Amino acid sequence: MKSLQEKEVFEEVLSSEQILFRLFHANMLTLLPKKYICFKCGCSYDKVKKILAQFSKEQLNNMYENGLIHVTCHFCGKEYDFRKEDL
Ligand SMILES: [Zn+2]
Repeated sequence: MKSLQEKEVFEEVLSSEQILFRLFHANMLTLLPKKYICFKCGCSYDKVKKILAQFSKEQLNNMYENGLIHVTCHFCGKEYDFRKEDL
């Protein structure tokens, strides 16, 4: 019983991350001309924040870890932290 609950929580977190990656990916592809994608990442704190704003409160709540949502850019590896009051 306990392991089943843990599995469900894990899957919920995983799917949130997958949604985030997909949104982030799509966002970057439309924002940047194709030729720049390989060389330069245009991510910024504000852009990541706008992407997070597309999530429901429930989804965001699932992403908090120690009061922070930690986002790592899949293109350049830059890291962003958001607190509840930042969003
Ligand atoms: Zn980036």
